[in-house]
Amino acid sequence: MPAAKFKIVRKCKVCGEPFKAKTIESWYCSPRCSKIAWKRNKDEELRMQKLDEVVKKIPKSKDYITVPEAYALFGISKETLYRLIRKGAISSVNVGERQTRVSKEELLKLYPLRKKALTKSKPVAKLYSLEPKDCYTIGEIAKKYHLDDSTVYLHIRKYSIPTRQIGNFVYAPKKEIENIYKGAKQ
Ligand SMILES: [Zn+2]
Repeated sequence: MPAAKFKIVRKCKVCGEPFKAKTIESWYCSPRCSKIAWKRNKDEELRMQKLDEVVKKIPKSKDYITVPEAYALFGISKETLYRLIRKGAISSVNVGERQTRVSKEELLKLYPLRKKALTKSKPVAKLYSLEPKDCYTIGEIAKKYHLDDSTVYLHIRKYSIPTRQIGNFVYAPKKEIENIYKGAKQ
């Protein structure tokens, strides 16, 4: 199988140890680390969903919101909030012992809203330049990343990277190629 020639040493995204990636999509050194990563993603998703629930319950007309509500809306920590209050950057009111309320309107001017848990990022229309100056030839890619031509073609098909043929040469955009071989030994 040509993919066996694929040699990339990457740092495991969980434990940080270098490992030999078997495929372009290998990001973790071991099944254990992939499991940890999966669990972390799941936990993060749940955490975000809980924050979304808090946000849903904030009445639209309400300006002064609680510290947990501010966290759910903006993702700003309690410490940061209190610092802003101390600096006088935002207005606050005390409605009782440990019951600080802060102005949502003022925070909106200072902070972007926290990203929603379930908003899928929109696919960004890719702009490719297939001008030879912005491209590598297949031969150049093979040489640069120590692969054979057939492996390069395989990856190009797999990742739907556009190519352009001029004479005897097939060109692929540098940016796309560098992206798929990120972390590869050169
Ligand atoms: Zn690891």
